Amino acid sequence: MRKESKAFQAETKELLDLMVNSIYTNKDIFLRELISNGSDAIDKLKFQSLTDSAILGDDTDFRITIALDKDKREIIVTDNGVGMTYEEAEENIGTIAKSGSKAFKKSLEDQAGGSDVDIIGQFGVGFYSGFMVASNISFTSKSPHSDKGVRWESTGDGSYEIEETESGKRGTSITLVIKSGEEYDKYLEEWKIKDIVKKYSDYIRYPIYFKDEVINSTKPIWKKDPKELKEEDYNEFYKSNFHDWADPSLHFSLKVQGTVEYTALLYVPKKAPADFYTKDYKRGLQLYTKNIFIMDKCDELIPEYYSFLKGLVDCDTLSLNISREILQQNKELSDISKSLEKKITGEFEKLLKDDRAKYVEFWEEFGRNIKFGIQDMFGLNKEKLQNLLIFRTSLDDSYSTLQEYVDRMGERKEILYATGDDLVSIKSLPKIEALKEKNIEILYLTDKIDEFSLKTMRDFNGKSFKSVNDSDFKLDDSKEKQEEIKKLSEDNKSILEKVKEALGDKVAEVRLSADIGKNAAASLLAKGEISLEMERVLSSMPGSQGVKAEKILAINPEHPLFARLKVEENGGSFKDLVDVLYTESLMLEGFPLENPAEFIKKLNALLK
Ligand code: ADP
Repeated sequence: MRKESKAFQAETKELLDLMVNSIYTNKDIFLRELISNGSDAIDKLKFQSLTDSAILGDDTDFRITIALDKDKREIIVTDNGVGMTYEEAEENIGTIAKSGSKAFKKSLEDQAGGSDVDIIGQFGVGFYSGFMVASNISFTSKSPHSDKGVRWESTGDGSYEIEETESGKRGTSITLVIKSGEEYDKYLEEWKIKDIVKKYSDYIRYPIYFKDEVINSTKPIWKKDPKELKEEDYNEFYKSNFHDWADPSLHFSLKVQGTVEYTALLYVPKKAPADFYTKDYKRGLQLYTKNIFIMDKCDELIPEYYSFLKGLVDCDTLSLNISREILQQNKELSDISKSLEKKITGEFEKLLKDDRAKYVEFWEEFGRNIKFGIQDMFGLNKEKLQNLLIFRTSLDDSYSTLQEYVDRMGERKEILYATGDDLVSIKSLPKIEALKEKNIEILYLTDKIDEFSLKTMRDFNGKSFKSVNDSDFKLDDSKEKQEEIKKLSEDNKSILEKVKEALGDKVAEVRLSADIGKNAAASLLAKGEISLEMERVLSSMPGSQGVKAEKILAINPEHPLFARLKVEENGGSFKDLVDVLYTESLMLEGFPLENPAEFIKKLNALLK
């Protein structure tokens, strides 16, 4: 019988050198590669048997078996797939697939001294990855198309032995002699084998046996008929796969067909993970192809604003030999990601419509992310995301979409809003009470980033946004009222100038106003681009302290304190009174008191 000692093809040898000396940290994947080869071999056999059922013989119990021999430091992976003939073994294992060899050679040249990680990832490397953990690899194989078997062996140096054997059982059995060293000992442990299989090969279609026990679940949950599954099944899968202790808040199960085809199973966690708002958080979905796990946290699959989603995408048409570097320019993957983004947005829109309570639960935990998405890149994603926004409104304090608000606003041209730390403090603003009396609905913006988001949007379907603190906001825009204010302002010109003088450059202007609510003595407004809220938010951030709104002190001419101001005009406590009015209006807008003791002293003096 034939027996030869042969040198590896030049590229293969280089690849082997890379493997043997690999610094690739994720060595665990060698087992995934061997299992997936076994699974492919069974696929091939089954395919051939469609036209030649005789090749199956009586061995139709398709399976992959893993065995350990600790004493000999061996892992043995066996399948009853299509096997290899002598010639096939020589061609398949001695050389790199023809299609890939040119590209491989080029990338070896390109990297010149770079890391091996790229290459390993890029070419899938399959069988050869065994040399990351093994000092010797051998296999026996038997193809149904030959009556002889084949044995192959190599230590990963430049050559391999290949010999013909007597006929044996159909399929391939690969033996890896695990390298010595603490780093490799774990591969001889039962738990490690089970762990790797669970992690990387759980959903291989054929059973994987280890010590007479099937250690994979054989059918992916996302490929099962959703009707067969209970919420609990989805939840269990979520917890074991995505390392969360709590059940998810909800899941979407997508099966997409058409120009791109994939299955996706996505989860919204109940709570944001502890590191969610830190740099440590890595977004992304698991990526599978043909039921085989390719990578965790593939961030190309989802946009930043959906970073809270956990889940997976399974696409049968992607190449298995895919790496992070390749993924970034993979056309198919970017098509999936575009399609996925639309689908996810659609699912959230549906939820918003069909189950408001559930949507609110999601929104209160992750709505900020969507708002950040709106602000990102100067509002590039506005159109996509604006229908997902909800805010509480003065209608009945509950959440409303912008469209729902617009549908109720009748002739009014602007979407009105007020900002504040919480509902209670916004609602007690005199202006808001007045609006309520007039049945004018406003949005309550209680999140620091809310106003920034609306400002980025500029408008919603042609309706612009207006803060009730804007200098030209009118509570009562009737001609008579505005005329009356104009006249009053002329009559009181000198006192208004004195107030301005007393405040110096704290304010840009002092005016009388009928638009701040009858219970208010005075109120702050802002003109220009920077709102009071923006100054308030930015001043709490490092490096932004200089950002100031252009403030206007608006005084209610009907308030008794205005009459008092006039009385005190030339008295000693005029300045204190002005200061108290100004400080009050700062406080109403949520600004911190600069000097509480000073304020109280002035107030008490006035109260005496
Ligand atoms: P890939 O699987 O990406 O083609 P590998 O180096 O893992 O690359 O394998 C090379 C070839 O060797 C496979 O394409 C297949 O033809 C053959 N092969 C590997 N493992 C097996 C197996 N268990 N049974 C039959 N053929 C195999």
